[in-house]
Amino acid sequence: MKLIIFESVPSGFLDLLPNELFKVLPGPSLIRFQGEEDAPLFLATLLHGNEPTGIQAIQKLIKKYQSEGKSLPRRLDVFVGNVEAAKSNERRFSDQPDFNRVWNGGSLPEHNLAREVKAFVKKSGTFASVDIHNTSGKNPHYSCVNRLEAPFVNLAHLFSQTLVYFTRPKEVLSNAMSEFCPSITIESGQPGDAYGVQHVYEFLEKCLHLKQVPPNWNGKEDLYVYHTIARILVPPDSRIGFDEDSRDKDFCFISDIDQQNFSELPANSLIGWRYNPAMKLSVIDEEDKEVEARFIEYQDTEIRLKRAVVPSMFSTNTRIVHQDCLGYLMERFVFDPPPS
Ligand SMILES: [Zn+2]
Repeated sequence: MKLIIFESVPSGFLDLLPNELFKVLPGPSLIRFQGEEDAPLFLATLLHGNEPTGIQAIQKLIKKYQSEGKSLPRRLDVFVGNVEAAKSNERRFSDQPDFNRVWNGGSLPEHNLAREVKAFVKKSGTFASVDIHNTSGKNPHYSCVNRLEAPFVNLAHLFSQTLVYFTRPKEVLSNAMSEFCPSITIESGQPGDAYGVQHVYEFLEKCLHLKQVPPNWNGKEDLYVYHTIARILVPPDSRIGFDEDSRDKDFCFISDIDQQNFSELPANSLIGWRYNPAMKLSVIDEEDKEVEARFIEYQDTEIRLKRAVVPSMFSTNTRIVHQDCLGYLMERFVFDPPPS
């Protein structure tokens, strides 16, 4: 798998739907757009094939400048990831690794591809990096950073007042690009929401007009920072559902579990039912340790939280739960920026 680089926009690219991009992009591709400022803004999109908002916002942005006959204020490098899975509107195919978990070394073809993209971003003197995603469950729009440094937080704040700081999994693109420039991930709500496309488009416009990413701490009173402490996984061979009555399943979770994302859940909150006592959920902390006993309590068939947490990215899509996780557990982070 070799990175394909387009020095100009492939014909038809701007008008294709995400599931049609394979017609002009033979695989993972990097498309370069000219602009006035030299140091490029790097964007990644469709690392997950079923998350179309990024590509839609980028198409809208480029078309706007084209229709006005203007050049972009800054060069733009766009990496389009899992074109193949996008064709079937899948996060990834089962024989593929997750394209947002291949950025910290490895021996698969996708790891080599990631190495090529990293080398490219480094060599290009990249200005900033933004990886654009959707969430499968209901979540507010939010930004993620892997470093609590002023330029990263300032870039993140341009997209949302809600910020998630995490260090695991460390194989994500935003963490890899943190070595070279301010780097964030943005989560722009569920796929297919027109507001998500508009919001990302407006954010990208702001990024393109920045002369520099603000380097100092200032005015962060309205920022809500959460820190990921663990993620909940289901056993790979388990049968799961989202209704109390599905007793033929190993685990069932409350059907509106994604409605709880980013709200404070007190200790003893019910999150679901276990109908197969031979199986256990797995809860993995930021040091990759199993910490299930600290977070989960089984009371008869009920699954309850042992302590207060703020959930995020909880999904009611059983396929995503198996491919990734049920969701993340966070806590509010007391964020006290140092004086500038
Ligand atoms: Zn994603």
